[in-house]
Amino acid sequence: MFTRLLFPHMCPVCGRVFEERRLVVCRQCRHKAPRTYFAKQVANPVVRLLWRELHITHGCSFIYFGASEGYRNLIHDFKYGGMWRYAYDLGRWFGKELKKSAIYADVDLVVPVPLHPFKQIQRGYNQSEYMALGIADVLGVKCEVRAVRRVKHNPSQTSKPFEERKANVENIFRVVRPERLEHHKILLVDDVLTSGATIASCGRAILDSTQDTQLYVATFACALEQEEEKTKTKTKENNPRKTHTKEDKMV
Ligand SMILES: [Zn+2]
Repeated sequence: MFTRLLFPHMCPVCGRVFEERRLVVCRQCRHKAPRTYFAKQVANPVVRLLWRELHITHGCSFIYFGASEGYRNLIHDFKYGGMWRYAYDLGRWFGKELKKSAIYADVDLVVPVPLHPFKQIQRGYNQSEYMALGIADVLGVKCEVRAVRRVKHNPSQTSKPFEERKANVENIFRVVRPERLEHHKILLVDDVLTSGATIASCGRAILDSTQDTQLYVATFACALEQEEEKTKTKTKENNPRKTHTKEDKMV
């Protein structure tokens, strides 16, 4: 009782105190989340974006990044605020959606996009790794965190046009243990999809270095270009979209 009074459990999206301590985000905010429902769609804006750069079997994002200030704050908290547990819980939530989709039924290995070791030491953790662990736990498959390394500590992507972003992340990943990835249907996981350049670079390194692998992509949030938002096929009417002016800060 005293613990509850001294340490109230607060929803990081809406700021309300709520009782269900096993959940990071309260039920109301889960219900109102700016979901994309891309996991149910074979052709969706994430797939169209990545197919320009990478041969993926399927791809999706869970929510729209720019649609809710509360969810933007949540992502900021687990990315920069030390709240790695949020990333794990959100991974489990995302994992439940993937598990319901027949499109992802064949996935048998989850791999997070790695951070450069310097950055991981600085931050203390890789938020995409915790998210990948949450997804893998729900899917009942292994999470492989040591097969791919980020070998270049590339500068920030902030405010760079796509071609520059692409050049900036070229050859920054290396597969150091291809045998751990081969003969698998791999779900590559990252927290936020912006231009897609980083995840495409990581995916290319995996496909170029391994045999008999298929690649799926899942990012928790996506900051899509305005024209691609207009083409999306399924949205919730009560989730108004905004232009994603803050997306670059999240890279
Ligand atoms: Zn809430």
